[in-house]
Amino acid sequence: MDCIFCKIISGGLPGKIVYEDEYAVVFMDIAGDVDGHMLAVPRKHVKNILDCDPDTLNHLMAAVKKVAVHCTENCGYDGVNLLNAGGESAGQSVPHFHIHIIPRKKGDGIDAWPAFPGARRKTEEVYEELRMTGDAG
Ligand code: AMP
Repeated sequence: MDCIFCKIISGGLPGKIVYEDEYAVVFMDIAGDVDGHMLAVPRKHVKNILDCDPDTLNHLMAAVKKVAVHCTENCGYDGVNLLNAGGESAGQSVPHFHIHIIPRKKGDGIDAWPAFPGARRKTEEVYEELRMTGDAG
């Protein structure tokens, strides 16, 4: 499969691996956009959270937690931002599930939260579409 993250996982492409276990790999993002930008990926190729089975998701989140705790306990950080784009409409550019991990320090000046434009519809109206009841819940 022609997937850059699968190639990094298999060693076919170079990657700066921060953490790896049987199920997940965490490596440095190449963007150079913010200090400490990492990507956590499952070894299994799944596109995003929408096609990810629960076990793969659980293992991935366990790896994310390990790296987050490592950042705060061993590397001088105070917290982390976790970012994810699920699907092209959400801005996903690489079709192998990944969670961005941005380690944070108080006063680091990083703005990792999107500046949303403001809701266009009433919360109550959207809530009626979104709420999960009966079989869907
Ligand atoms: P997203 O837009 O959420 O799909 O994020 C994809 C991320 O993959 C971006 O932050 C890219 O900088 C990163 N990326 C793309 N190619 C590589 C690579 N070869 N090694 C590390 N990170 C990569």
